[in-house]
Amino acid sequence: MDNNTTTLLDLDGLAVERVERLTDGTRRVHLITADETARACPSCGTFASRVKGLVRTRPRDLPYGERGLELAWLKRRWYCHEPDCARKSFTEQVPQIPAGARITARLRRAAALRVRDAGSTVVQAARDLHVSWPTVMSAFRTASREVTDAELPGVEALGVDETRRGRPRWEQDPDTGKWQLTRDRWHTGFVDAFGTGGLLGQVEGRSAADVLAWLSTTPLNWRTNIRYVAIDMSATYRAAIRTGLPHALIVVDHFHVVQLANKMLSTVRRRTTAEVRGRRGRATDPEWKARNRLLRNREDLTHEQFERMWNPLLDEGPIGQRLLTAWIAKESLRTLLALARTSADREQIGHARWKFLTWCADSDIPEVTKLAATSGRRWWRV
Ligand SMILES: [Zn+2]
Repeated sequence: MDNNTTTLLDLDGLAVERVERLTDGTRRVHLITADETARACPSCGTFASRVKGLVRTRPRDLPYGERGLELAWLKRRWYCHEPDCARKSFTEQVPQIPAGARITARLRRAAALRVRDAGSTVVQAARDLHVSWPTVMSAFRTASREVTDAELPGVEALGVDETRRGRPRWEQDPDTGKWQLTRDRWHTGFVDAFGTGGLLGQVEGRSAADVLAWLSTTPLNWRTNIRYVAIDMSATYRAAIRTGLPHALIVVDHFHVVQLANKMLSTVRRRTTAEVRGRRGRATDPEWKARNRLLRNREDLTHEQFERMWNPLLDEGPIGQRLLTAWIAKESLRTLLALARTSADREQIGHARWKFLTWCADSDIPEVTKLAATSGRRWWRV
């Protein structure tokens, strides 16, 4: 018996007897049992002492090296001599190769983890590891249960967000010739927004019922520990959280608020160009030239970039002035959010909020007024 080779193969309970090179280059590793407990009857636990015969199995293992490696395990079949035991005989088994298994436990595990943790498809994992599709799928199912059955980690702030699943599909009605949206699938994801719990769950759909259905699968004490729920500005999610987690404070994450403000700016720009110039924007229009700078954060613009945005717009007249008014609304909303994030001084936050709301109210731009209504009133401390 070669100890080094046994260590190299590292299959618990089995020892390498010798390694043979076949004519096609494949290495065949001859194995013998090196685990005393393999002799214990799986039914009654009695150690057997009389051999009934020998069985040769060729369990598949992880690929190793460039040429094939195959295992040949000569295992014994034993008589169980315990008079009360129903089992008359049994073959040896070790944890890595249970009775009847045709692949090693570590190969099964590796196949499962490729799919579960490394994002491989089942087909690809089967191809890479030279096992069948059903083998990989069943191993993956077992390994997935470790994650899905695991207890949810304690969460203080729950994040709820939607993700589109696949592309939307349009189909034309052959009779009317009208196009219809036939498939637009959305999922709702639940994440640990502050902690390290990551993705906690994902369900099909994005209705209030879908959110509530997932929440109902979680333990009550887990739900009562949630203090905040971060969502985008969706009225549906807000309604669902109010019902399912009535004690939690709903917060809108700042990213989505700023995104909304930027959308508002682009809408104002397009509408104003259309109204004043009577056409779509062109590359020579000052508002078109400034379109990207308008969306950047003030502090990310250099002094020069800021001037290149501000001055031409100011000189442009009504278009530029309207855009700068909208831009200031966006920036004062960002100031308000930054204050809310860093400071606990309610008076200071209240003042910033008042400044933002009055600026928007006086702007006389419908999109800006709407932004104030959505982000500053309806969603503020909802
Ligand atoms: Zn027995």
